Amino acid sequence: FHEDPSFWKDHNVQVIIRVRPLSTAEISVQGYGKCVRQESCQTIAWTGHPESRFTFDIVADENVSQEQLFKVAGLPMVDNCMIGYNSCMFAYGQTGSGKTHTMLGDIEGGTGRHSVNCGMTPRVFGYLFSRIQKEKEAGRDEKLKFICKCSFLEIYNEQILDLLDPSSNNLQIREDIKKGVYVENLKEVEVTSARDVIQQLIQGAANRKVAATNMNHASSRSHSVFTCIIESKRECQGVAHHRFARLNLVDLAGSERQKSSGAEGERLKEATNINKSLSTLGLVIMNLVNMSNGKSLHVPYRDSKLTFLLQDSLGGNSKTTIIANISPSSCCSLETLSTLKFAQRAK
Ligand code: ADP
Ligand code: MG
Repeated sequence: FHEDPSFWKDHNVQVIIRVRPLSTAEISVQGYGKCVRQESCQTIAWTGHPESRFTFDIVADENVSQEQLFKVAGLPMVDNCMIGYNSCMFAYGQTGSGKTHTMLGDIEGGTGRHSVNCGMTPRVFGYLFSRIQKEKEAGRDEKLKFICKCSFLEIYNEQILDLLDPSSNNLQIREDIKKGVYVENLKEVEVTSARDVIQQLIQGAANRKVAATNMNHASSRSHSVFTCIIESKRECQGVAHHRFARLNLVDLAGSERQKSSGAEGERLKEATNINKSLSTLGLVIMNLVNMSNGKSLHVPYRDSKLTFLLQDSLGGNSKTTIIANISPSSCCSLETLSTLKFAQRAK
């Protein structure tokens, strides 16, 4: 496992496979087996029939810690935002593959120094605020100010719900020449420490649970998007320079095939929407990769709420990371293959 994130320099989209450990339930099943075998720090083999080999920027096996994953994936994203560019991180994979463990992990445990299971988001913000502190110290003579505002929303069935203010639902995406793409009436909370962020994460997660119960759906069927807007204001010889960067952390809906056969009404609509938004995301990222190779392509941002919302944070100078989570268990073999194929297309 390479901890050197220098490969970022060459491309703006990176794809990481994360294999979770077998669960105790999977181990206790008689005749359990694994459906994948790691071949190198970038290559993984799917051991079904026919055996297939896949290559990614990084393959992180079950021994790769939250801290190690943060260093290769989260840290460079924050660095990118500190120079004024947007970043997006997506956790993709079937329900139970480790998306939430990767993105949040044990958030009640603290900001990173306290818990080994603390996930990407709290670590990202711990690092962000330490960088801001350092910048301030380094630029003592300048008037330098950072303002960080976060928001947390859920997209379920192509509808946007504010997780920091659950009384407002079905929010609309708007476009503005100055503001770019934004969600109208979305609550933004100023944060000044990783602890502040964790508090919002906990609040949002609790609201998400309530919303799922009220709307009678599992939260695994919705996308959650945590966004932080980092504004820096630098005053030099009486002239103020503003810079904005967006940092988006997305826990996607479970990628397991949503059955549309037999489903009717709301369930059919829901299944169709999940499949559509994940495939649109795949298509958008694939087109971005091809465009950076010089091809000019239409990028179908508007085909789903998720990609429309993140339009300004995908492409251009933005950095995008996809962490495709998989289970190594042979009982998840087909879903694991389908995740590997999705991630491959994003390469
Ligand atoms: P998802 O969000 O994709 O549905 P979860 O993150 O909830 O999946 O993970 C399912 C279970 O597996 C949880 O109990 C989680 O703690 C455990 N798990 C997932 N990834 C890991 C990992 N890398 N190391 C240890 N446990 C993990
Ligand atoms: Mg989850």
